[in-house]
Amino acid sequence: MMKKSTEVLVIGGGVTGCGVLFDLAQRGFKCILLERGGLSNGTSGRFHGLLHSGARYAVKDAATARECIRENFILRKILPHCIEDCGHIFVVTPEDPPDYAEALYQTCQEVGIPIEEISVAEALRREPLLNPQIRRSFLTPDASVETWETCQTLVEAAAAYGAEILLYHEVVGVTVEQDRATGATVKNTVTGEEMRVACDLLVNAAGPWAGRVAALAGCRVTVHSSKGTLVAMNYRLVNTIIHRCRPVGDGDILVPVGTVAVIGTTSVSVPNPDCYAIEDWEVRKMLDNGAALIPSLKRFRPLRAWAGVRPLYQEQNVGQDMRSLTRGHALLDHAPRDGVDNFVTITGGKWTTYRLMAAETVDLVCQKLNTKRAGRTADTILSPPGRRAFHRLGSRLEKVEKAGIEEQLICECELVTRPQIEAGLARHEQNIINDLRRDLRVGMGPCQGGFCAYRAAGILQEQKNLPAQQVNQALLDFLQERWKGMLPVLWGQNLRQAQLDQGIYQGLLGLDKLPLNLRRWAEGRVGEIETEGYFELP
Ligand SMILES: Cc1cc2nc3c(=O)[nH]c(=O)nc-3n(C[C@H](O)[C@H](O)[C@H](O)COP(=O)(O)OP(=O)(O)OC[C@H]3O[C@@H](n4cnc5c(N)ncnc54)[C@H](O)[C@@H]3O)c2cc1C
Repeated sequence: MMKKSTEVLVIGGGVTGCGVLFDLAQRGFKCILLERGGLSNGTSGRFHGLLHSGARYAVKDAATARECIRENFILRKILPHCIEDCGHIFVVTPEDPPDYAEALYQTCQEVGIPIEEISVAEALRREPLLNPQIRRSFLTPDASVETWETCQTLVEAAAAYGAEILLYHEVVGVTVEQDRATGATVKNTVTGEEMRVACDLLVNAAGPWAGRVAALAGCRVTVHSSKGTLVAMNYRLVNTIIHRCRPVGDGDILVPVGTVAVIGTTSVSVPNPDCYAIEDWEVRKMLDNGAALIPSLKRFRPLRAWAGVRPLYQEQNVGQDMRSLTRGHALLDHAPRDGVDNFVTITGGKWTTYRLMAAETVDLVCQKLNTKRAGRTADTILSPPGRRAFHRLGSRLEKVEKAGIEEQLICECELVTRPQIEAGLARHEQNIINDLRRDLRVGMGPCQGGFCAYRAAGILQEQKNLPAQQVNQALLDFLQERWKGMLPVLWGQNLRQAQLDQGIYQGLLGLDKLPLNLRRWAEGRVGEIETEGYFELP
């Protein structure tokens, strides 16, 4: 069995784990990140995409709201290329309680969140599709964030300090010797090979899976899994984030993200963060509630639905009411709690507060390893000069038009060219088309991979000279992931699109009969690890 050793081992490549890795590396620790899928494979790749100002929480949870506004200002400074300052309007619809607007205004001021009332005419000028019946509107400094680019930026910055990142590596065992965590057994989820990593200290940043990882060391962490369903509409219906002005509820936020607008979300307790379904009522509720914000919403095409699982930390059993649980984070030292030293868990919180969570975690690591090293992440600008800007279709179109026919278009919906795909494949060690999606948005447009997936598979084969079975498997994995997201919204244009895709892949290409990499079928692991987040595998 292969062996490695390091000072600190970080489990989980969501935004929290990536943040912890960067902070550790910057403070001079030798460290390794282990992630069972690609970066942002868990909740960080399935969330709503909001850099909170804290206004959403101000009325009910002032402490979380304060953290959010502080971090909001810091992240805007250190990660400008990952944040789109699209603006944010709270709107009071005729169905919303009028006194909530006053409470929101008041508490935002108390907590220190800038808030300004604008006229309804001004709100409608900014967002012409907005419900003209709205009664009041307020601006707050929320923004939209690019999670994949953030995680990638963090791990690259960590690697520049010497950190090592092992993707598609799952921790399957934690070694505890004389009441101390001393390492982990790790399985490569692509090849099945096992490896042992020895370390001085382990950080469990496994989000909703933190309870499972803690249990590998015999420790108990109660993380409640709260599923939230989101629906992406086919157009960027708004350029500003629109938020219902009422107590937090289902389907009350519409966020412009790249080329689409995302409406969300629900909050449903699920027993297993790997296995849950998107229910019809959730999709219906998103569309109904979205129509209170944008009356014409249902005339547009829902592109796909997906869900993520919030890691909510609370020791006691809380029943089914997920909305009442705190969005605050928990940093747990397993020495006093469970008698296992050199093992800490960081869970709960928000994407917006990842940096703060990481800083507190690394402060605790320093304390446990008996060293004093101050954190500097709040003042370290992470956007390298010339780094790709927040994705905009317009800027891609400009480049494609300049390049003319020299650069073949592989994904017409998201304007991804062949050289971009080739460069993306060269960057990734594993041959997984989904990694290209995260990097370049391949397959995220209206055809949901219908035309670009087989082209990307062809380039993969050509570039890496892989056996046909492996490329077929990569293609199948990718399509399975895309089609699962289309399933909950299969009507109208989307149904037509799905039939066309079926015709191409089953009818013309005989996808269901192609020779596949049978080892993964035998293990019941059809699809990548990340597909497990949606539905039970066959
Ligand atoms: C529907 C929804 C909407 C949300 N909207 C917002 C929002 O708009 N703004 C905001 O700030 N927050 C939002 N959140 C909350 C936010 O997304 C999460 O708090 C945050 O992404 C959690 O990040 P994390 O890194 O802690 O967990 P994750 O991103 O889940 O990372 C944990 C990682 O651990 C890996 N892992 C698990 N087990 C193992 C193992 N054994 N070995 C190796 N790796 C392992 C997983 O693959 C995963 O990648 C939302 C959450 C949901 C569900």
